[in-house]
Amino acid sequence: MSNYTGAVPETKRKTDWRDTAACAGQDPERWFPNPSNVAAVKDAKATCFGCPVIYQCAQGALTRGEESGVWGGLSEGQRVTIRKKYRLAQLEAPGTIRRVVNKALHAELNPTETLRDVWEKHTHDLPGGHIGWSGPTGSFSFRGIPTTPKQLAFLLDRGHKAVGIVRRTCDLVECVNPRHMLDNEERCRQKAEEERALIAALEAPLAS
Ligand code: SF4
Ligand SMILES: [Zn+2]
Repeated sequence: MSNYTGAVPETKRKTDWRDTAACAGQDPERWFPNPSNVAAVKDAKATCFGCPVIYQCAQGALTRGEESGVWGGLSEGQRVTIRKKYRLAQLEAPGTIRRVVNKALHAELNPTETLRDVWEKHTHDLPGGHIGWSGPTGSFSFRGIPTTPKQLAFLLDRGHKAVGIVRRTCDLVECVNPRHMLDNEERCRQKAEEERALIAALEAPLAS
């Protein structure tokens, strides 16, 4: 016996994240601007920033190795940098993608963010006058300039870049209190002062 019911079988395809893309139905050329056309790249990104599937889109482009166009709010150059920094397995993790995209978005949407803002955002007071750091560990980039939490602390406090290595003078490994650190120049100065004080003490007449 036939199972034919006369009804047209359900052929509707499953919905896909692309169905909700902000660029759906728009001219795809907009997302393939000349990379040197800053205004056109910005224009494409502006739509991506409000797109509900920005993470899926960025992840797809990064893991497929898309070379051209704006995908997930990321330009060609940004994707090259990200792919140099992360392994494929890392880019397949949703957590990493969120972090990577959010970081890129944050920089674009907050062009006026200053180093002081970065400091305020990532530091907190610790007992004993120490200051903790909750931002990126090790070296991180601010507008393309590499820095470390200790170098940032030093710069904001002294008003100039540290010379050589910035070392803590306190024992708390995570402390970034600029008053608890010295650069090469300050260490040399401190040592010279200690030597002068020692010589002065040795040359002083003994109190009778
Ligand atoms: S993130 Fe941008 S390119 Fe990707 S689907 Fe959304 S609007 Fe389109
Ligand atoms: Zn300290």
